[in-house]
Amino acid sequence: MFTGLVEHLGRILAVIPEPPGLRLAIDAGPLAADAVIGESICTSGCCLSVVRIDGPRLEFQLGPETLNRTTLGRRGVGDAVNLERSLRLSDRLGGHLVTGHVDGLGELAERIEEQDWVTCRFTAPPDLLIQMAGKGSIAVDGVSLTVVDVDAASFGVAGQPPRHKGPQRRPERDQAQPTAGPKPDASTGRAVRQTTAYLRNLFEEVGFSIDARKGQNFLVDLNLLDLLERSAEIEPDDIVLEVGSGTAALTERLARAAFRVVSAEIDRRLATLARDRLIDAENVTIVEGDVLASKHRLAPAVLAAIDEAEAARQAAGRSGRFLLVANLPYCVATPVISNLLLVRPFASATVTVQREMGERMIAAAGSHAYNALSVWVGAQCRGEIVRILPPSAFWPRPKVDSAIVRINLEPERRDRIADLQGFHEFVRDIFCHRRKVLRGVLVRLAGGKQQPEAVAKVERLYEAFGFERSIRAEEIPPDTFVRLHECFAADSCPAS
Ligand code: SAM
Repeated sequence: MFTGLVEHLGRILAVIPEPPGLRLAIDAGPLAADAVIGESICTSGCCLSVVRIDGPRLEFQLGPETLNRTTLGRRGVGDAVNLERSLRLSDRLGGHLVTGHVDGLGELAERIEEQDWVTCRFTAPPDLLIQMAGKGSIAVDGVSLTVVDVDAASFGVAGQPPRHKGPQRRPERDQAQPTAGPKPDASTGRAVRQTTAYLRNLFEEVGFSIDARKGQNFLVDLNLLDLLERSAEIEPDDIVLEVGSGTAALTERLARAAFRVVSAEIDRRLATLARDRLIDAENVTIVEGDVLASKHRLAPAVLAAIDEAEAARQAAGRSGRFLLVANLPYCVATPVISNLLLVRPFASATVTVQREMGERMIAAAGSHAYNALSVWVGAQCRGEIVRILPPSAFWPRPKVDSAIVRINLEPERRDRIADLQGFHEFVRDIFCHRRKVLRGVLVRLAGGKQQPEAVAKVERLYEAFGFERSIRAEEIPPDTFVRLHECFAADSCPAS
């Protein structure tokens, strides 16, 4: 028996066919710590028994009956599932009694979001609708909800269903866990939902006023915060760098998903609020201060905190990736990404940035957005815009659209850049003069047109690359730029 108060958002790790059914492997995070074979876990509303445990990975077998009656068979690797362990008779019953036997399948027909309030309508089979009434309880995907109204084809629910319940419900288990999670809301015991109303109240309470110069636009659309986290595909052994902890809305999610989180925050008052929220999250280091020591250098304290996190991971006998996941302050987005790619490459960066900057990061040669950042990123990574975000996703609203962008490092392409620092400077120098034809800029970099060797060197390059005399920097793709720099620096051009 369950309550419909979801404890953890699990992630499907594998879907293994086992005719006539299948086996689901799920990363159950902290819920796996004390799981036992045979234990019942409510998985998106369906009671499943654990058949295998491997660290945070729990496996379940689903027979044809379960696959017919639930949506679990339609889900794939990486999809989220709501998880809840079974109820103890001594527990408080915060939701309602949920059996974990799914009565029927419905579909989300409508979802309306107004400020902090979400109203959803679901279709359902007529034999279930007939049993529903306003103010009655229903579990949808294992989440306990109250029915608002019912008609002949559908029912409505309102509010925003809690996705994580706080740790008070099972204090004895939480004490036993090695890494405690972020602090729940003191009055409800649930994970705090950092909406506009929440932030307004918090800031009023502590007398904090927002500093627009520091890019303090908080991501208050929680679905988009979910999307940002999901798109990062964080694994339990990953180390994550966040820039701009703010009030820790994203940091606490990262803390649940990653091995360690290093989060830099320039604003002392926000760093204090973030520390307060994360008091129980032992795997987070807040570095108070500017993430940058200068435009071209990351702060040593941030790099040291990442080193320390890596040493701790190694000492624990684990290995994983280094990721950047952040709602980046616009003022530092370009130098943060550029400098990380130079000195501390991430396996992937999943960030919200100004839309224009996102477009630059993934722009192809010849497009109007293509600039030095496009070449620097494009020579080492492949990227995509995950979603364009309207100003209303943030509080206070910025004047422009933003974008969630994900870029993945391609190590073999990065390894082909023999002198990263030199290439970085070369690209920057060239794009300082992007409106000019490339030839003049290269001659200047080679020593100036008074120097016959400089002119001859550039002539040789143009011949080797087959460039038109009028070619401009923005027409040259990143990989060609890499070769051009190599030949320019060596003053010889091996045939490629
Ligand atoms: N992570 C929060 C969220 O998702 O809502 C806040 C993101 S807000 C866009 C950017 C945050 O970065 C602010 O908290 C701001 O104070 C901080 N910030 C701005 N410039 C910074 C810098 N140079 N170094 C570190 N943090 C900075």
